[in-house]
Formats: sequence, structure tokens, C-alpha cells
Amino acid sequence: MNKKERSLVLIKPDGVQRGLIGEVIKRYERTGLKLVGLKMFVPTADFVKKHYLLDPGWKQSNGEKTINAYKAKGQEPPISDPIKAAEKTLGRLKSYISSGPVVAMVWQGMNAVEVIRKITGGTEPRTSDIGTIRGDFTIDSYEIADLDDRSVRNIIHASGSPKEAEMEVKHWFEDEELMNYRLVGEEILYDVNLDGILE
Ligand code: ATP
Ligand code: MG
Repeated sequence: MNKKERSLVLIKPDGVQRGLIGEVIKRYERTGLKLVGLKMFVPTADFVKKHYLLDPGWKQSNGEKTINAYKAKGQEPPISDPIKAAEKTLGRLKSYISSGPVVAMVWQGMNAVEVIRKITGGTEPRTSDIGTIRGDFTIDSYEIADLDDRSVRNIIHASGSPKEAEMEVKHWFEDEELMNYRLVGEEILYDVNLDGILE
């Protein structure tokens, strides 16, 4: 069990503009995961493109997800080829994520990727679960995003797998920007017998 698994999280420009930085950090922080990197900047369109293309399978999986989301609602997807659909999405993503400051973070701990994705919720806010960040704080849908020729605005990016996280952390952070430190709470989270509490 890797207690040092990492996940890259971005609060996208809409999340920053909606005043949700504190709310988002609170939700991840209270799980016990450890914040090991944090910064704010405006990424370029090229930097965003490189980020999404770190995973060679991204176009296929993103395109299929979009097509399946339309089909699940009984609607015809506007583009039926997954790769072409993802390329359209990527063009829109470049202007979305480079439109203003984003907050980039690295969270670390046991099952960090899975736990962060659970708290973040599904990609399309219209169908993401209540209680998740995307379900609670916004209402966007693929349909309106397509009509307006823009990206789905869903507040957060969160790594999809530990492998993806490793590449993304390298893309967004220098080694010296990541903190190695002990967090007192981890002594309870990962303790075996809880026999060191009572005096
Ligand atoms: P992220 O990688 O941002 O955490 P995700 O893994 O849930 O999100 P991806 O398939 O990687 O989803 O898509 C990346 C982002 O592209 C989404 O978060 C969303 O902002 C945008 N997006 C994805 N599909 C579409 C679409 N069909 N139309 C518009 N925007 C989309
Ligand atoms: Mg993704």
C-alpha cells in the first residue's frame, strides 16, 4: 500500500472566479490527505495542451465518455468519432484553462487519486453526484457547452490514475516545489493499534 501516492489537482479559472478556493481545499484537507505542493499561475494554451496529451490514451477515453454521455440521455452525439470529438474538446480546453489564474496542488496519501476523484465527482456537473464538488457547486452540461462552443466548466481537474498523476505532477511542479514533511494527523490515520494516545 503506497502511503505516498500523489494526485495533481487544479482549481480551474471558473473555480477561482467563483470564490471556491477555500471550500475546495477544505474538502480535500479534511480527509487527512497531505498537501505537498501549492501555487497559483496563468498557464499558456500550449502548456494546457501538453498537460492533456501526457496520457496517450486521453483522446480515446475522453471522446468515448462524451459520446456515451449523449447516448445515455437518448441524444445523438454531435461528433461520432471519439478521436475527433476529443480534439474538439481539447481546442476548447486550451482557452478555458488558460483564461485566468488556476490554483495547482499536489495531494499525497493512501489512495490519493481515488479519494480525490470521489470528492471531485463525475466530469459533467449536470449528472455528477450531490455531495461532490462538481455536483454541489455548479450546473454545467455537455449540451450547453456544445451549444456555446466551449468547454464544460467543472471547477476542478484531478488526476485519473497514479500513473497520470506522476506525469502531471512533473509537468506542473519542479521537485524543489514539493514539500517533504511529517503531518501529525498521519500518525493517527496510519497507526496500527492507537496505543500511543493515553498517558
Ligand atoms: P479532468 O481531467 O479535468 O479532471 P475528467 O478527467 O473528469 O476531468 P476528461 O475526459 O479528462 O475529464 O476531460 C477533461 C476536461 O475537458 C473536463 O474536465 C471538462 O472540463 C472538459 N470536457 C470533457 N469533455 C467535454 C465535452 N464533451 N465538451 C466540453 N468539455 C469537455
Ligand atoms: Mg481527465
